Amino acid sequence: MDSAFGLLGVELAPEGGRPFTTKEVARVQAAELVAKRCACLPLSSFQKLRYASAKAVPKAAYGWFCCPPKPSTFKRLDAMIARAGPNPSQGDASLKQLFRGHSSSAAFAAGQQVVMAAWRRAVKSNKPPGIFREEGWVMTLRAFLEANSFTESGPWRWAAPCASSRVIDLDPSGSDFIRSKGEMGHVLREAWRQTLFEKWRARNLVTSRVCKSGQYSEARCTATRKLVGDHPHRFAVVCGAPVSFQRRAVMEPSRAKEKGCSKRARMIQCPWCKGREAPDWDHVCWRCPANGRAPYLAPPTDPLQRRLGWASMARTPAYNRDVLDWMAEIRQRVIEEQRRKARKPQMPKGEPVPQQEERKRRQLNFSLAQQQERKRRRLPIFLLS
Ligand SMILES: [Zn+2]
Repeated sequence: MDSAFGLLGVELAPEGGRPFTTKEVARVQAAELVAKRCACLPLSSFQKLRYASAKAVPKAAYGWFCCPPKPSTFKRLDAMIARAGPNPSQGDASLKQLFRGHSSSAAFAAGQQVVMAAWRRAVKSNKPPGIFREEGWVMTLRAFLEANSFTESGPWRWAAPCASSRVIDLDPSGSDFIRSKGEMGHVLREAWRQTLFEKWRARNLVTSRVCKSGQYSEARCTATRKLVGDHPHRFAVVCGAPVSFQRRAVMEPSRAKEKGCSKRARMIQCPWCKGREAPDWDHVCWRCPANGRAPYLAPPTDPLQRRLGWASMARTPAYNRDVLDWMAEIRQRVIEEQRRKARKPQMPKGEPVPQQEERKRRQLNFSLAQQQERKRRRLPIFLLS
């Protein structure tokens, strides 16, 4: 490239790069402050997420051309945005990022702007966007595409993460060169979503192991995103944040700390059906005879739908919507029941309420008398006489 080339307000620096300044880091810090303020807005979590994405992400992503951002660069900003939006603590980080959307990811925005600037340059000049080398903005572009599962197969050419995706070729003379700006952006977004899905599937989590056979499908992901809408419990279910009586019992700190308390010993009875089966997520949603499930709502056979409520392309949209609504309702009911239980005072069994109150009153009086006695002893003798 002979000189810098201005394209729609974005200027690609020469391949040699330019000295890295602290401006980009200062912008990220300013964006973190914006996201922190968004979290304090008196709005719903989904509205706060949209504000944080619109205000903080473009600020942080701007300017990362000649120096690819490190994975840790946007870590704090991502955490601030997550805090502003829906963020179920048990959910998987990759799935939560997927359902928050690409607009909430500064790393994606920073990489995408380099690819799109190079693509616009190729379209305008009708030749490759520059000299393919290992420095400057070319390196930033290559690092971004590789982080999103593209494989470099030649100069300005990257193989798609899966057979259904398109190849990225930035040489306009090639047959795979994408002419439409919308399609180029769509290919990048889909690769980003698929990378997050595969990250979750590769993890050693209960949900990942159960859904090991589930493959990423663009249509399925789109249908699920539409079903979630602005509903916090639906969001939590599709992100792998189930709540069940059994899970709470196993994770309860007071029980977990008990020495020699095996997992089996910590199993509890289902408060709805009082059966012998452990009340895990699958039980409370689909197997419990007393959970109030309508007879027409048959349990899903697809593991990704049964566990995470993801829409199935083999079922009708109405069935997919009912399944996710039902799982969100169960999650809400379990949480409410746990909270109700936690609010109830823990009294010894078998003792009538008036006797319990009398015992508490006596204990209180006794402790007050003890305190007074201690104070009295601390006083000098001449004051007591
Ligand atoms: Zn049950």
